[in-house]
Amino acid sequence: MNAETLLQSLKDLKATFEQEEQNLTNLDRAIGDGDHGVNMLRGFTAVDEKVSGNTISDVLKSTGMTLMSSVGGASGPLYGFSFVKMAGLEYDEITSDNLKEFIDTFKDAVAARGKVSGGEKTMYDVLLKASEQLSNGEKLTYDNLQKFAEDTKDLEATKGRASYFKGDSVGHVDPGAQSMVYVLNALSEGVS
Ligand code: ADP
Ligand code: MG
Ligand code: MG
Repeated sequence: MNAETLLQSLKDLKATFEQEEQNLTNLDRAIGDGDHGVNMLRGFTAVDEKVSGNTISDVLKSTGMTLMSSVGGASGPLYGFSFVKMAGLEYDEITSDNLKEFIDTFKDAVAARGKVSGGEKTMYDVLLKASEQLSNGEKLTYDNLQKFAEDTKDLEATKGRASYFKGDSVGHVDPGAQSMVYVLNALSEGVS
């Protein structure tokens, strides 16, 4: 995937979040404050309007800065910072050989910024499982990613607003894990 394809793929997330806004809002209403759908749509509307760049690194950096200044909430800095971190990788294209490096950089950035580890019912769980999937030499598909998000249903939240719900958070998919499905799919689906 070259810079042009990546840029288009990230801009296309605006339409995805338009479609999924209500679903994400409902998930966040159950174990949060009900704004995750609005937050993600605001972020990727800004990405569609403002992001440019001729290299993978420039596109990722511009996306990160745009998300940081537009998303808000807990998820904004986590997504924004992570895209800026991925921009530090200097590749002309995202390929099946280096995709794991991008995902691992994303994962480590969320871990550092969110002080989070696996099993805390956050977006991080999807990143961790995506990384493991690639470590096993398997392809990352949309269905895999969706399953990783659904796996958060059985967990009790120990980070973010959802942690206030304690045991009552069990039985709901984490909203950030669900939005991460779309973001990681955009980063990986055009990779060959
Ligand atoms: P807010 O909770 O501030 O309203 P959002 O609703 O946009 O922000 O985002 C909530 C999502 O952010 C959660 O579903 C979770 O996946 C993620 N999240 C919150 N805190 C953390 C954290 N410390 N580490 C990783 N992810 C987190
Ligand atoms: Mg929220
Ligand atoms: Mg909020």
